[in-house]
Amino acid sequence: MADDKFDAIVVGAGLAGSACAYTLAKAGKNVLLVERGNTAGSKNVSGGRLYTYALELLEPDLYKRAPLQRKIVREQVMLLNERGATTIDYFNPDFGENIPQSYSVIRAVLDEWFAAEVEAQGGMVASGILVDGLIEENGKIVGILTGGEEMRADVVVAADGVNSLLGQKAGLFPDVKSHAVGVGVKETIELPDNLINARFGVTAEEGAARVAIGCTEGISGGAFLYTNKGSISLGIVFNPEQAAKQQRHIQDIFQDFKMHPAIQALIEGGTSVEYGAHLVPEIGYQGIPKQLHREGFLVVGDAAQFGINTGLIIRGMDLAIVSGLAAARAIIASPSTAEMGALYMKQLEELLLVANQRAYQNFHGIFEISRIFGGYPKLANDAMQFMFTVDGKTPTPMVKGLLRAVKKHATFGQMIADGWKAYRSL
Ligand SMILES: Cc1cc2nc3c(=O)[nH]c(=O)nc-3n(C[C@H](O)[C@H](O)[C@H](O)COP(=O)(O)OP(=O)(O)OC[C@H]3O[C@@H](n4cnc5c(N)ncnc54)[C@H](O)[C@@H]3O)c2cc1C
Repeated sequence: MADDKFDAIVVGAGLAGSACAYTLAKAGKNVLLVERGNTAGSKNVSGGRLYTYALELLEPDLYKRAPLQRKIVREQVMLLNERGATTIDYFNPDFGENIPQSYSVIRAVLDEWFAAEVEAQGGMVASGILVDGLIEENGKIVGILTGGEEMRADVVVAADGVNSLLGQKAGLFPDVKSHAVGVGVKETIELPDNLINARFGVTAEEGAARVAIGCTEGISGGAFLYTNKGSISLGIVFNPEQAAKQQRHIQDIFQDFKMHPAIQALIEGGTSVEYGAHLVPEIGYQGIPKQLHREGFLVVGDAAQFGINTGLIIRGMDLAIVSGLAAARAIIASPSTAEMGALYMKQLEELLLVANQRAYQNFHGIFEISRIFGGYPKLANDAMQFMFTVDGKTPTPMVKGLLRAVKKHATFGQMIADGWKAYRSL
C-alpha cells in the first residue's frame, strides 16, 4: 500500500468523508477512505436527524437507498420545569414536497452503509487505521502518516470531525476552544414500535422530533428525542464552560433529564443499548476557521466547524455531506492542486452552504439569554398550572394570576432586554 499513490486520501468515514469519497470514486478517481474505527460509524454519536436534501444533492434518489429510520412528521418543543412540561406540537404528514424534509437516522448503520456505497463505486475503504500525521513536501501536503507508514496522494481531505487533528497538523487552526463547542451525550433506548407510535402519536413509518429546554439547570443548552424504528435516540447538548463553572457533570444533568416525569413516560420499559458523548460545533459561522485549505489539503464537515444550532434544529450532518460534495467537485474540476482550494470555496458558495451558515451567523446571541434555559420555561409552566387549576377557592382574576407567574421569573425590564437581544440575534 505504501507504494501506491492515490488521487485522493479522505480521512474519516463520517458523512463528510463518505460523501466526498463517494463522489470522487463515482467520477473514476482512485480514492482511499481511511477510518480509525473498526467500522465506519462505530465512533459516531449523533442525535440522528438528517435533512434529506443533502443526499439528494449528492445523487437524486440516493436517500431512497439509504437506511433511514422514520420520516419526521411531528415537530415538538417541550418547555420543562421541575415536574411539569408544556409541549408545542406541530404535525404535518406531507412535510417536504418532492423529497421528505428529514428522517431520523442511526449513525452506526448509516455510516456503514455509506462506506459500502463508496466501495461499490470503486473507492477503497480502510478501517481500523488511525491517521496521526501529514506528509509535507515543498510547502504542499502530499500524504498521510499512520503508525510510521506513509500513504501518498495528490490531495488529502480532512473529514476527521470536530476536534480535527489534521487541520491542526496542517497549521490551519489551533485546538478547539471550549466556548466554540457544545458537549453532547446521547443514548439509544430500544422500545417496541407499538409503544413508540402510541407515545409520540405517529404511525409505523412516521417519526417525531422533540426538543426540550429548561432541563439543563439554567446552563445554555437543551435536549432532544428522535424516534427510530424500534428505538428512541435521546440526548442533551450544552455549554461545557458554564457547566464547569457550576461544577455540574454532564451525566448528572442527563440523568435528571431522563428522570423528569414527562420524559420517563416516553422511555419507560425501554432498554439502553448505546451511550456516548461527543463535541458539537456550536457557534456556527463565527466558528469557521478563516482558512480551510492548503495546497494538497482540504477540510470538510465538522472539522471545518460547519454547524447550525437554532435551539430548535441541530444541523451538522447535512452540512457535512454538502461540504464533502463541494470538496469532491473541486478536486474533480481542478487542473492542478494549486487551484483546488479556491475551487472548494467557490463550491461551498454555489452549494449554498456558506449562505446557510451566514443566515444564522448571529443566532448564537440567543444562547446568551440565560432565562431561555431556566426562567422562561418555568414561567410557561407556572402560567399553565395557574390557568388549568380548579380548586373551588375564590378565583384569582386571569390577568392578575398570569402577571404573578411572570413576575416570579423575570421583570418587565429583563423581558424587554431579552426580547431585544433575541430580535437582534434572529
Ligand atoms: C449529541 C449530538 C447530536 C447531534 N444531532 C444532530 C442532528 O440531529 N442532526 C444533524 O444534522 N447533526 C447533528 N449533530 C452533529 C453531527 O453529528 C455532525 O455535524 C456530523 O456527524 C459531522 O460529520 P463529519 O463527517 O464531519 O464528522 P464525524 O461524523 O465526526 O466523522 C468523523 C470521522 O473521522 C474519524 N476520524 C477522526 N479522526 C481520525 C483519524 N485521526 N484517523 C482516522 N479517522 C479519524 C472518526 O472516527 C469519524 O468516523 C449532533 C452531534 C452530537 C454530538
